[in-house]
Amino acid sequence: MKYLDEFRDPIAARAMLEKISVAASREWTIMEVCGGQTHSILKNGLDRLLPRRINILHGPGCPVCVTPIEMIDRAIEIAQRPGVILCSFGDMLRVPGSRRDLLSVKAEGGQVRTVYSPLDALEMARKNRDLEIVFFAIGFETTAPVNAAAVYQAATEHLDNFSILSAQVLVPPAIEVILNSEDCRVNGFLAAGHVCAITGYSDYEELVENYHTPFVITGFEPLDILQGIYMTVVMLEEGRPAVNNQYRRVVRRDGNPEAKRLMGKVFERVDRKWRGLGNIPGSGLGLRAEYAAFDAARKFGLEQYEKEEAGECISGLILQGLKKPFDCPAFSERCTPEHPLGATMVSSEGACAAYYHYSLTEFQRIKKNRNE
Ligand code: SF4
Repeated sequence: MKYLDEFRDPIAARAMLEKISVAASREWTIMEVCGGQTHSILKNGLDRLLPRRINILHGPGCPVCVTPIEMIDRAIEIAQRPGVILCSFGDMLRVPGSRRDLLSVKAEGGQVRTVYSPLDALEMARKNRDLEIVFFAIGFETTAPVNAAAVYQAATEHLDNFSILSAQVLVPPAIEVILNSEDCRVNGFLAAGHVCAITGYSDYEELVENYHTPFVITGFEPLDILQGIYMTVVMLEEGRPAVNNQYRRVVRRDGNPEAKRLMGKVFERVDRKWRGLGNIPGSGLGLRAEYAAFDAARKFGLEQYEKEEAGECISGLILQGLKKPFDCPAFSERCTPEHPLGATMVSSEGACAAYYHYSLTEFQRIKKNRNE
């Protein structure tokens, strides 16, 4: 199969691992900034195949995981209002808010529906003009264009019963927070290919200039990731940081101009709170004044609602690359995918869920050794 089998070829993967091993003369820590890459790394055992000198950290690349608790509380508050249908991606339903989750609201008769696209919610608004339809818009630059298209279309059709609860975030400002941290251990980054397919990578060139840290725009198959790591290691060894594009078959330097134009028409940059990273200036996308009527937080009077994280979940530290899921005392005991304490165990792209699904045996071995 073109563009799949060749990126999973075990012989080519072994050769690439050998190249990494030869190229790396010392320890390097590399962060991948995408939950899809995290899962690919764990699922294919790349973390165990890489030379010990290469330490992989998982960044804030899962949209469900980085959505702060107060946004979930806002969605719950909206879903409880009469005459409202709240539409969300399935993973968000089980993420705990400060007191409960959307699934329990649904179980008690609240109108919560799972959708696969904001366009499904838009269609619901067309068919139910007597109800308010709200789409819980989480995600990165990858999903923002289709959210923008839904709002633009709603405005064109005068669908005033449609709105979005915008929790959309932008990746480069979060990377900058990680780079600015005193505890930052990251030497280089694998940047998410699908994000750059939309935005291009000029923002990353700016980060390289300011922080002298290499970035490789990387795809999601095992060989993509291994090649991305190899390209990062080569730049680190040579002391010549730059942006390299491993994912050339999809990503262009300028990204997708049409998607960017639509995003820019409907959204503007706003300050946004991230789970575990706090408030990051200019890291979110909010509706422009012309589209304010489609802002659910405004429509339902929830703009000022704030809530701090509480409890024993350390997902904030995991999202910053300061801890790994195995470091959490609750991992696999009090916190499992069936009974998650935090978003990184709920989401199909979350780091804790990836470790639970693919590395539980290794965790049990490490734990046994610790206890002996
Ligand atoms: S294992 Fe559970 S409690 Fe621990 S960090 Fe992950 S999600 Fe949070």
